[in-house]
Amino acid sequence: MGKVYLVGAGPGDPELLTVKAARLLARARIVFHDSLVSHEILQLVARDAEVIDVGKRCGQKLLTQEEINSLLVSAARNHDVVVRLKGGDPLIFGRAGEEIEALRDIGVEFEVVPGITAALGAAAAAGISLTDRRAASQVVISTFSRRMGGTLMDFSAITSTTTLALYMPGPDYTEVAHRLREGGLSDNLPCVIVSNATGAEQQIRWTNIARLVHEEKLPAPALMIVGRVASRKFREISKALWNGEPDDHHVPRTAVS
Ligand code: SAH
Repeated sequence: MGKVYLVGAGPGDPELLTVKAARLLARARIVFHDSLVSHEILQLVARDAEVIDVGKRCGQKLLTQEEINSLLVSAARNHDVVVRLKGGDPLIFGRAGEEIEALRDIGVEFEVVPGITAALGAAAAAGISLTDRRAASQVVISTFSRRMGGTLMDFSAITSTTTLALYMPGPDYTEVAHRLREGGLSDNLPCVIVSNATGAEQQIRWTNIARLVHEEKLPAPALMIVGRVASRKFREISKALWNGEPDDHHVPRTAVS
């Protein structure tokens, strides 16, 4: 039996791969990747290795999750090094849980190699600190896709000092704005939409909840970062809207040095 590596490919820029991921891609005899993984990254795979796209395109699944699970198990029977390559980090909205369970059930050895998840790539691209202590005390990673778990998160759990990283916001920003408002978030709360973060086609749109409804949809993959930190003019906005103070009791009042 070989070993299966669940490897994160990072958000897009091939330079953001870990050294371990790059080495494993060169060593792998077979690579199963999803559609988010770029061509440049796949070029790191050895020429004589098998490369199989198990991703979904245009909402149409090429393979079911069960089929992918059994492909991984049978690949491990025939190859020493099997790589399952996923965009971002394999453990964030990557269905790695199901694959890990299938490998455990059969007793196939596996290892998870983390990657930079899209929210961190997007925050870096936009140059915002997700946990800026002047405005945020927590980060929530969630998705607007019902496919992932059936139900949407309870947006009323978002406090004024939460930074929300919303994966898969979908085609309808009006619906997102509606849900956020329903959850009690204010219209003037900043929001940044980042499409293709760190990749060649990167786009960044600075907006807020009220203006979301008028925003043109950015190409997938895209995500939203919602919260006070999601602003280019943090100091100005925070002074105008919140008197420059974190007004939430959840925020630890650390001394400013
Ligand atoms: N495992 C991945 C997430 C897979 S779910 C990770 O850790 O990043 C796919 C969703 O991730 C996309 O619909 C989009 O919301 C987000 N995403 C992935 N790559 C992205 C990128 N380069 N820029 C913006 N969002 C991205």
